Amino acid sequence: MDAILSDIHGNLAALEAVLEDIGRQKVDRIISLGDVVGYGPRPVECLKLVMDRCAFSLLGNHEYAVLRGPEGFNPIAVEAINWTKRQITDPGQLFYLSGLKAAKLEGNLLYVHGSAEDPLMEYVREAEDHAQFVKFVQDLQRDFQRFDLCFTGHNHRAFLGTTDAFIFPHPAWSKFHVKDKKLYICVGSVGQPRDDDPRSSYATFDGDVVEYHRVAYDIDRTAREIKAAGLHPFLAERLYLGQ
Ligand code: ZN
Repeated sequence: MDAILSDIHGNLAALEAVLEDIGRQKVDRIISLGDVVGYGPRPVECLKLVMDRCAFSLLGNHEYAVLRGPEGFNPIAVEAINWTKRQITDPGQLFYLSGLKAAKLEGNLLYVHGSAEDPLMEYVREAEDHAQFVKFVQDLQRDFQRFDLCFTGHNHRAFLGTTDAFIFPHPAWSKFHVKDKKLYICVGSVGQPRDDDPRSSYATFDGDVVEYHRVAYDIDRTAREIKAAGLHPFLAERLYLGQ
């Protein structure tokens, strides 16, 4: 069984809680879909843990920003990226970052940070009306030729995007059979969830069943670390709201 996580964003308290939760299950591999850094106060420690513990990690738009400069970021995110760049000075970590890829294909499974069409930058978004849903299904049918399942992060929200509907997990309904279907599996975010649930999100997958997990962590600790680092207070406030 694999554990798939994304968007850790330098939130060490969240990552440690998630790794502890994963440790209680029969997980063979941990996979990271990118954005290990950015926004959060402990990028170096998070990178170290990902390098030690994950089978592989992908290039997220925040890693890309550290390497090449921010694109399409708001001022708070730009400030955080510039701060993050100053923290990552270890040549081994910089070398690791420079070798990351935005997508990985494994059999009938694609792993990306963003979308199948644009693995680095594009958001998989829930449709807000019928026209958007029709477009989502058309895009999915166009892009999912060489694979059936696509694990993704970037949107910081936990849901399945299928050709029938968008499916949102909750505690009583968190396991889904996905074999022989074509769908997006959005795993949510470890370090900065934006689906109104402040708990860290990740998924496990055994080749047939995807299970969603939420893990409470010490948000106060991360908020203190954000303050101590001199990062924008909004980056702490949003963690409490899950936004
Ligand atoms: Zn992200």
